[in-house]
Amino acid sequence: QPIESSDLEHFLQVPGPTFVPERILAAMHRQMLDHRGPEFQTLTREVLDGLPEIFRSTDPVILFPSSGTGGWEAALVNTLSPGDAVLFLVAGHFSMLWSRMAAEFGLDVRVLESNWHRGADAAELEVYLRSDADRKIKAVCVVHNETSTGAMTQIGDIRAAIDATGHPALLLVDAVSSIGAMDYRHQEWNVDVTISGSQKGLMLPPGLSFNVVSEKALEAAKSAKLPKSYWAWRSMLAHNADGYFPFTPPISLIYGLAESMIMLNEWGLENVFARHKRHAEAVRRCIAYWDLGIWCKVPRDYSPVVTAVVMPSGHDADAFRKLARERFNISLGMGQQKLAGKAFRFGHLGYTNDNLILAGLEAVESALEHARIPHRPGGVDVAYLFLNRRR
Ligand code: PLP
Repeated sequence: QPIESSDLEHFLQVPGPTFVPERILAAMHRQMLDHRGPEFQTLTREVLDGLPEIFRSTDPVILFPSSGTGGWEAALVNTLSPGDAVLFLVAGHFSMLWSRMAAEFGLDVRVLESNWHRGADAAELEVYLRSDADRKIKAVCVVHNETSTGAMTQIGDIRAAIDATGHPALLLVDAVSSIGAMDYRHQEWNVDVTISGSQKGLMLPPGLSFNVVSEKALEAAKSAKLPKSYWAWRSMLAHNADGYFPFTPPISLIYGLAESMIMLNEWGLENVFARHKRHAEAVRRCIAYWDLGIWCKVPRDYSPVVTAVVMPSGHDADAFRKLARERFNISLGMGQQKLAGKAFRFGHLGYTNDNLILAGLEAVESALEHARIPHRPGGVDVAYLFLNRRR
């Protein structure tokens, strides 16, 4: 799809926030209206009726004015009580942060930490749940796409592992960098709460989070005792039923969300997912040709939306990102936690196309050259060839 020139002042190659298309910027650039009036009521209903399809679900989607982190909090406080045992599958920075939040709420946090070079391990989960004979674990929490490592977890396998044990734990899944960018199936995977955010695949500014809630999650919410008020699903759902919110909603972002949903539906979600998978493959081929490493070591878990690139030893990734930004006008994602200083991240999600991906790779290759990072020049040509742009 064409991208207007004003989008191109800077290469925003971080894995979110992503470029906001002019169409969405224009949709948000509108006057306020009465959020208790009939026009907003119609808009809310349209958005809330259309959203489940984006999550491949028929369960209700709850919108909060917050970043994705607020979505994590809402999922925990609505389903759990102080002291409840919760199992976190930690495979990167974001799953770790989420588990820390749970500990701050006084939950009994158990962690199964897998190698950060791949997604979470379903077989280990199955063994763990089988050993939980008295069914203490109330929820299993996992991040679908670890934006920090560029490795995804196979949520279908996680579901199968839980089912194989007959364990009744809820399944809470962070799909913050998945929704609108990669194949995600709330319903088919029988997820109880899916959490997402606005600034990645949905191509919006940061500021909206999402909870998609199953019947089982709503049932759990009836007895969940963690304190909540602003984040309470119950009052939200009661107001949403009439097309309203319990508080003043982020009207501009909801205008934008309505346009984002139209765009995603025009393109077709499957086509969007295929676009990012293809770009991810082009990026990986380029990196391999450069002779740099890919942090994710398991090809099945390669993320379609972000690739973490390992620097040759002795070369600092943050100094490299600084040079890339200052000389080549490109923002690359920083390495977080175990990846700090060792890797940078190249995002290929959201409103992007072949030209942008190739130009982004070219900027990285030029920066490698200027920073005198050992590499084999010509990776961008490999990406060009893969994207079928030459004979
Ligand atoms: N989870 C994942 C997988 C993320 O990538 C992010 C942000 O990058 C978050 C959670 C946190 O979201 P936010 O920064 O919007 O609070």
